[in-house]
Amino acid sequence: MIRFEHVTKRYPDGTNAVNDLSFEAAEGELVTLVGPSGCGKTTTLKMVNRLIEPTAGRIEVDGADIMAADPVQLRRHIGYCIQNVGLFPHKTVLDNTATVPHLLGWPREKRLKRAAELLDLVGLDPEEHGRRYPDRLSGGQRQRVGVARALAADPPVLLMDEPFGAVDPVVREHLQNEFLKLQARMRKTVLFVTHDIEEAVRLGDRIAVFGDGRIEQFDSPAAVLGAP
Ligand code: ADP
Ligand code: ADP
Repeated sequence: MIRFEHVTKRYPDGTNAVNDLSFEAAEGELVTLVGPSGCGKTTTLKMVNRLIEPTAGRIEVDGADIMAADPVQLRRHIGYCIQNVGLFPHKTVLDNTATVPHLLGWPREKRLKRAAELLDLVGLDPEEHGRRYPDRLSGGQRQRVGVARALAADPPVLLMDEPFGAVDPVVREHLQNEFLKLQARMRKTVLFVTHDIEEAVRLGDRIAVFGDGRIEQFDSPAAVLGAP
């Protein structure tokens, strides 16, 4: 569960990125945050794993106030996946996927086994693709590695910032469908940022429609589509 209570973020230069934001994603729920560029979606997401600290208000993850949590523990609990996934170019896809287990000190054999399972989960062949370096994959394949990496330590919470934004529409739709199937099995608590209303509607159990640092509507896809 992720809960925002009256959260405000003002950057040091005075920009009010997020104003008095209150909403929640229930356990196992996928909430999409949608809206035009600059309306505060990424700021909202990055506050959950404390990449950005709120100026005011309270954020809870699975019942705990994040400001009272150890950031390292918090980030073990939360998978994070961004556009242009930022894979390490000098590491194989398998090693990239095993980044978090590596940081957690898992033995090599255990983390590579886990990485192979995850690549399989996102539709990549651990033997064929796992041994390659990221520059030998297509954009869509790299995004899959990004998703696999975010899932590596099996975190109950996932933050995704336009994870499929950098690929062409056909590949994007494919990745969306695969992700939906995966989520039906995993039931993670997910915040998913997108500027694409179609993507928000296709993926979200509920949709938070952002405008200028606020949520203008928070409802089911059907209700959002039905709105005037
Ligand atoms: P979105 O993800 O919806 O595109 P952001 O959360 O990135 O929106 O940005 C919200 C607002 O905060 C924008 O006006 C943006 O320019 C501003 N902003 C984002 N990061 C910073 C920062 N580090 N310092 C100052 N302003 C920022
Ligand atoms: P994107 O739109 O791909 O999310 P941006 O270009 O908005 O990326 O932001 C890139 C980086 O610059 C982010 O870390 C963001 O926090 C920061 N940033 C965005 N707007 C501002 C701003 N007005 N002042 C300072 N930093 C900003």
